[in-house]
Amino acid sequence: MSANRSWAEPYRIKMVEPIRMTTRSHRERAIAEAGYNTFLLRSDDVYIDLLTDSGTSAMSDRQWAGLMQGDEAYAGSANYYHFEEAVRTFYGFRHVIPTHQGRGAEHLLSNICIKSGDVVPGNMYFTTTKIHQELAGGRFIDVIIDEAHDPESEHPFKGNVDGEKLKRVINDYGKDRVAYLSLELTVNMAGGQPVSLQNVRETCALCHEHGIRVFLDATRCVENAYFIKEREPGCAGMSIPEIVRAICDEADGCTMSAKKDSLVNIGGFLAFNDAELADAARNLVVIYEGLHTYGGLAGRDLEAMAIGIQESMEYDHIRARIGQVRYLGDRLLKAGIPIVRPVGGHGIFLNAATLLSHLPRERFPAQALAAALYVDSGVRAMERGTVSAGRNSETGENQYPNLELVRLTIPRRVYTQAHMDVVAESVIAVADHRDRVAGLQFSYEPKHLRFFQARFATIQSHGIFRNDDCERPTTTEPAAEIVR
Ligand SMILES: *Cc1c(COP(=O)(O)O)cnc(C)c1O
Repeated sequence: MSANRSWAEPYRIKMVEPIRMTTRSHRERAIAEAGYNTFLLRSDDVYIDLLTDSGTSAMSDRQWAGLMQGDEAYAGSANYYHFEEAVRTFYGFRHVIPTHQGRGAEHLLSNICIKSGDVVPGNMYFTTTKIHQELAGGRFIDVIIDEAHDPESEHPFKGNVDGEKLKRVINDYGKDRVAYLSLELTVNMAGGQPVSLQNVRETCALCHEHGIRVFLDATRCVENAYFIKEREPGCAGMSIPEIVRAICDEADGCTMSAKKDSLVNIGGFLAFNDAELADAARNLVVIYEGLHTYGGLAGRDLEAMAIGIQESMEYDHIRARIGQVRYLGDRLLKAGIPIVRPVGGHGIFLNAATLLSHLPRERFPAQALAAALYVDSGVRAMERGTVSAGRNSETGENQYPNLELVRLTIPRRVYTQAHMDVVAESVIAVADHRDRVAGLQFSYEPKHLRFFQARFATIQSHGIFRNDDCERPTTTEPAAEIVR
């Protein structure tokens, strides 16, 4: 098909799920009740839900048919073998242990491979990955290239590992103290930024030279493969499955949240080439997840995952997925909204520090922006800044990452281009009234992964928009008030 043809969806809609429209005053109440944390909103109160692309994908008719073929045997379910074959075919690892989701796999991997006092270098932290490393006695060290921390940098592979930083970690701690390298494909916290195939190869070679293993976070490996095909010299002629295999062939294993690339609502896995590591994981999985042939999942979930893995590798699918994200990004860029560039694989990251430059970091500008966006239009986004970064595990101080972002994450195969238009209109409307967005302070701060359950209060008493009664941004203002 012509390369300059639009990315239109390679599917048609067979069933619809109505969504509720709410009024502004309803949303003001809802966000206050939720402690200004979009994670604590009820989904019924949300119009367009861009909180996450995790487990929010629309399954295909084939996947739904697969659910009906669930073999719910406790041990040795037929679906497990379909799933195992799909992972072996597309990711290439020999041993596959299913887990209920990505963090289940991270938990097992951290327990098996990290000793107390170890360090775990990685290309930018991910929330659940890092905490499992810490709980196992390890310490995460960031070895991503500096460009990743600069939202303005147009580097095509901002997810790359900085070889010099990695060498320094190996020199400073000695190879025996380096548990493994944690290599994430399309780096979520950097804005969905890819790693080049060349960087994967060089990084893995450097580690293996020192006898250090590399485990991929393969959660978004297919999206990464698309960027490699598009951007990396010499890779345009490779298919998506070929690139995914080329990446995985370099590594010793992976953790996977199948709730992202693999188009299922729940599921994940841990995979290894080494038989001893796989045995260790099978010993642990029965304690924390379930038997090694179901890992906390139903047979039907394994079947949906087997089919989803295959569908995720189709070129037209991944092109449309990334095309839709890019469409929203282009609209915002045209309007002069500060976003992380280049646009990444799974969402748009608004630069809240720039957009709400009147708010100091201690007032959590990204958290405030997410709340303001919800009040404006019912669009639900997520904070990815100071609240997500948490406190330093040694000093207890707030950590202020360079990136103070709001993530608009696009679920796969769920929303239309018209929905993206509404999102863009709302972001622009809030930006037009940016001076009136108020800062926040904690009213409740959980100990671990605080962004999920934290509650906040506005620093003034009029809700998230100051002087809200004089002039209001207007976007979606649909019909009737909802009474709960
Ligand atoms: C979502 C995600 C995880 C964690 O997976 P869950 O399925 O949410 O437990 C790990 N790494 C990355 C990059 C992710 O996006």
